[in-house]
Amino acid sequence: MPDTRYVFVTGGVTSSLGKGIISASLAKLLQARGYRVTIQKLDPYLNVDPGTLNPYEHGECFVTEDGAETDLDLGHYERFLNVPTSQANNVTTGRIYQNVINKERKGDYLGKTVQIIPHITDEIKRNIKLLGTKHKFDVVITEIGGTVGDIESLPYIEAVRQLKWELGHRAMVIHLTLVPYLAASGELKTKPTQHSVKSLLEIGVQPDVLVLRTEKDLTTDVRKKVALFCNVDIRAVIQSIDVSSIYEVPVKMQEEGLDETVLEKLRLPVEGKPELKEWKAFLSKLKNAKKTVRIGLVGKYVELPDAYKSIIESLNHAGTYNDHKVDLRLIHSENLTTENVENKLKDLHGILVAPGFGHRGIEGKLAAAKYAREKNIPFFGVCLGMQCAVIEFARNVLKLEKANSREMDHNTPHPVIDLMEDQKNVTDKGGTMRLGAYECELTKNTRSYNAYKKELVNERHRHRYEFNNEYLEQFETAGMISAGTNPDTGLVEIIEIPSHRWFVGVQFHPEYSSTVLNPHPMFLAFVKAAIDHGKEGVNRH
Ligand code: GLN
Repeated sequence: MPDTRYVFVTGGVTSSLGKGIISASLAKLLQARGYRVTIQKLDPYLNVDPGTLNPYEHGECFVTEDGAETDLDLGHYERFLNVPTSQANNVTTGRIYQNVINKERKGDYLGKTVQIIPHITDEIKRNIKLLGTKHKFDVVITEIGGTVGDIESLPYIEAVRQLKWELGHRAMVIHLTLVPYLAASGELKTKPTQHSVKSLLEIGVQPDVLVLRTEKDLTTDVRKKVALFCNVDIRAVIQSIDVSSIYEVPVKMQEEGLDETVLEKLRLPVEGKPELKEWKAFLSKLKNAKKTVRIGLVGKYVELPDAYKSIIESLNHAGTYNDHKVDLRLIHSENLTTENVENKLKDLHGILVAPGFGHRGIEGKLAAAKYAREKNIPFFGVCLGMQCAVIEFARNVLKLEKANSREMDHNTPHPVIDLMEDQKNVTDKGGTMRLGAYECELTKNTRSYNAYKKELVNERHRHRYEFNNEYLEQFETAGMISAGTNPDTGLVEIIEIPSHRWFVGVQFHPEYSSTVLNPHPMFLAFVKAAIDHGKEGVNRH
């Protein structure tokens, strides 16, 4: 619609203030009022997408249905809005420059000097507006990565300045800052916010709303002071106080009137107040869950839990809907050995082995899969986690001692996990994996079928290696079966051990599609199995 409204969310003072959560919360409130809303993230780095980044850099790489490798904030957007995002929702400086340079080579700017202003800023504006013009959203919320004052984000802020000028009341800026509390003097300090707004003003942008992150309630005096120094209405000074769950933030923002203030600024009708009934029902389940279920997440990036953001959130959704809190134990796969595995895993009700790439930490993942299989502990292997379960079974049950994935040992005599045929001639690393949603046909009377309760599902992927079907018969005879395959290629998507309490490995990533209002059936089933196992008393092995 030509009237699309654009809300920009910028951050100041420090990073990690939660721009993604504020953007997602505002979107949730507008969605509850019936608007078609989407959120976009502009990342100021030069990688074309985060697919080639080590998770230690910016956390997990989130994969969309259309196969884009994106920033983890898109995971929050989907979990809050329950609506899939796409490639258009994440744009990096690398992609902007790549597009501009490709156009230059084609001769699109023939005769002209190609410059940051207007060519880069025009390309940024084109990518922002695309969601309104092509995808027809009523409101597009664009989160600018980084912090105001960074050299890297200057072209984005300049594009925002131009759009505010062009679009008038159809564009606005929300600036998120930190109000630190100084315990020694018992005071909340607004100076960093004033400086941050000053930095924005220097580059021509007056924020319309300020969201202040704080650990203590802001007094009226503090709000007045901020309003006065930063040229905003007092009602546009919004407090964002620390809360125990990110899912409480939409409710807090509603109490602060963020959605109403935004609608007024955008000259959209402000009637009524959405009830957020289902959302609040989830929150009350979350708060009232008293019993706990202990789940171990075995991975090599556990020092940075953001590397497993979607898995951790999916477990939380599943725990909540099963009326339990998930007591998550992060277990470093590099420190796990056949000698210490019992000691480290014996108290767990369920074990999840995480996705990953490369050799580091593999032996620990294999030890975890073996322990779970032998001790009848609910096990969920995701992507590389599934591949590890297959390798472990091959080595210890089929007695194929040197069985491996071709990824870890190119010359293995038993490549039970092998490179996919269409990956064999791939040399570039960026965006070349098997990515995005593919169908999976489930086998009846399996754990997976019982969880999904349907025959055909669509799940997102991110891998180069697959189960080697030459070994399928051997596996099935020995008790590990294929419970789901791709209907077009026959690729094994799910393995299970039917004689085990709950032992499932999936080649795809169910964690990318679990949302607050639509928890993923496989996580629900895994957590339920873990709870049931816990009830029987874990320590009796
Ligand atoms: N490294 C494995 C592959 O490429 C698994 C990938 C993953 O866990 N996402 O197939």
